[in-house]
Amino acid sequence: MVHIADPAAGMAASPSTPAAAATDASPKAAGGALEHELSSGTWVIDLDGVIWLTGHAIEGAPEAVDRLRRAGISVLFATNNADPTRSELLGRLRRIGIDATAQTVVSSADAAASLLDPGSTALTLGGPGVDEALADRQVRVLCASDPDGPLDGIDAVIVGLTSRFDYDTLSRAATAVRAGARLVGTNDDPTHPTPRGLLPGSGALVAAVATAAGVEAVVAGKPYQPMVELLQARAAGITVVVGDRPATDGRLAARLGVPFALVRSGVSAPGDPVDPAADLDHEDLASLVDAVLR
Ligand SMILES: [Mg+2]
Repeated sequence: MVHIADPAAGMAASPSTPAAAATDASPKAAGGALEHELSSGTWVIDLDGVIWLTGHAIEGAPEAVDRLRRAGISVLFATNNADPTRSELLGRLRRIGIDATAQTVVSSADAAASLLDPGSTALTLGGPGVDEALADRQVRVLCASDPDGPLDGIDAVIVGLTSRFDYDTLSRAATAVRAGARLVGTNDDPTHPTPRGLLPGSGALVAAVATAAGVEAVVAGKPYQPMVELLQARAAGITVVVGDRPATDGRLAARLGVPFALVRSGVSAPGDPVDPAADLDHEDLASLVDAVLR
């Protein structure tokens, strides 16, 4: 992977936080004390690989969310998928039986938009979720795939996951960055899981623009500081991050200073060693919730 600047560099959680202190790949929760600590507050829960996999609910996940809420635990969904609009995300959740509001779903598109000032201009290379998040923040949006759009006066180039990516689009994005625009990636996940296996993620596209423009990108989504600050602004008392990808969800937990609960229903297969290590390690969200609320 090419170099991608981490705006949280030097601001990572201290080694005393559970996930940051982890040096082995084994789950560290030996008893029920940690589970008890998680039986209140707000859980930050990843979507892909935890709630659903390519749009299909993971068995038991909707019921597990319902059990958390009935136990008085708030849920804040955090996804690095910047492609869908907010209404699409809420609709997908509703279809599998999970009610959520715009306030309780945070995407890496929202985190990227938080880096731009209202009234600024962005050139986007990404899906509708990116354009919507920017428009919500009163940012003027230009599309990098528009061959006739201007490339000067652009404050930031925002790169998310899109299949509309070709040499001309890459050239326009890199040209805008070379002309002075800031390069922002929604996230730097190298891949994303699909029924066809792992396909290129946003990180691959961000890396291409960064390489062509000769700069380092600022990355907004998990586990970076823009997402950390957005989550902290949405919820007081975050007690755990639940996710399937240690490099993003585990590192996010470390930066929030809370335990990381790994579920092996997504990119981390049962038995795979993980880094950073998890404080709790369960087959899926349902079994994690069983352990906490038993
Ligand atoms: Mg995931």
